Amino acid sequence: GAMIGILGGGQLGRMLAAAAARLGFEAHIFDPATDAPAGATARWHTAAAYDDKAALSAFAEACDVVTYEFENIPVAALDCIEAFALIRPGRQALATSGDRLTEKTFLTDLELKTAPFAPVEDMASLTKAVEAIGYPARLKTRTLGYDGKGQATIDGPGELKDALAQLQDAPAILEGHIAFTREISVIAARSVDGSVACYDPGENVHRGGILHNTTVPARIRPALRTDAVLLAARILEALDYVGVLGVELFVTPDGLLVNEIAPRVHNSGHWTQLGCAIDQFEQHIRAITGLPLGPGTRHSDVTMENLIGDDITRLPDLAAENTQIHLYGKAEPRPGRKMGHINRLV
Ligand code: ATP
Ligand code: MG
Ligand code: MG
Repeated sequence: GAMIGILGGGQLGRMLAAAAARLGFEAHIFDPATDAPAGATARWHTAAAYDDKAALSAFAEACDVVTYEFENIPVAALDCIEAFALIRPGRQALATSGDRLTEKTFLTDLELKTAPFAPVEDMASLTKAVEAIGYPARLKTRTLGYDGKGQATIDGPGELKDALAQLQDAPAILEGHIAFTREISVIAARSVDGSVACYDPGENVHRGGILHNTTVPARIRPALRTDAVLLAARILEALDYVGVLGVELFVTPDGLLVNEIAPRVHNSGHWTQLGCAIDQFEQHIRAITGLPLGPGTRHSDVTMENLIGDDITRLPDLAAENTQIHLYGKAEPRPGRKMGHINRLV
């Protein structure tokens, strides 16, 4: 079968590699860690740094298509890979979502609503930004943030200095705090020929900035469900996207705001493993290999719960009916580390 390269060997890469194997493909992981979770489910694993040009070239040369499980891949690495293999989703998706300022500008250009935002480089620009946006506000690093890392909330003028210091003067954006009623996400896919399939929006609960659980269907009006799916499709089109995309949304009394987009399979889409015939991992592999997409149809309602850090030592009754467990094979259950997840029919 064709060789699928995957940049990043975390749990997402692991589940992508398993889906690839099921479709008769081989997976080749590129991840610096020799014990990367995806290494165990892939045919090949190159354990080299993202600035190792020789290793990247050899990896790309061996692959028919290269995809990724995180959005902060160095541009030089992409240049190196693109000399030998197709990258799907394409670089426009990475460039857009890898920087919160670029991302929010792209979304507002598409006439989608986001939290009010302004770029911040220093105290002067931060002061100007809070004058426009008001309190409470949230300062976020433009790049590299995940699981709520690289963020500081600002409740008043006395907290400006600390917030800047907390971000260690990294380029940032200030966002207005949104008093959302719920958070939802849409997992959407687009194929090489431009057809689109979306899963129903799931409702997400975060704890300490980290996704804790997702339930489908989200408790929202049918009109909002349509809005969510249509806006996801608009994003896919605008990026000429191939693959699975996660769109995180805030539900407010005035409709939906886009929080952020992730150009990859998404933690809030893990429920599809139990709720759909074709889950998000298979959907992504289908999309990037030019196979027809599966429908986004959900046959069952599901709750997905993440096992984070120590949760792994307190597993629920695994013999319970309608319960599916996924463990990522990570040795160290560090605080905040995603160790596995549980899908349950509801
Ligand atoms: P991820 O792991 O999803 O990539 P991240 O580090 O990129 O997370 P965000 O998604 O920006 O962070 O924020 C994490 C969570 O913090 C959000 O899901 C939401 O609960 C809350 N949050 C973020 N921005 C805002 C905002 N402007 N107003 C209110 N809540 C917010
Ligand atoms: Mg994010
Ligand atoms: Mg997020």
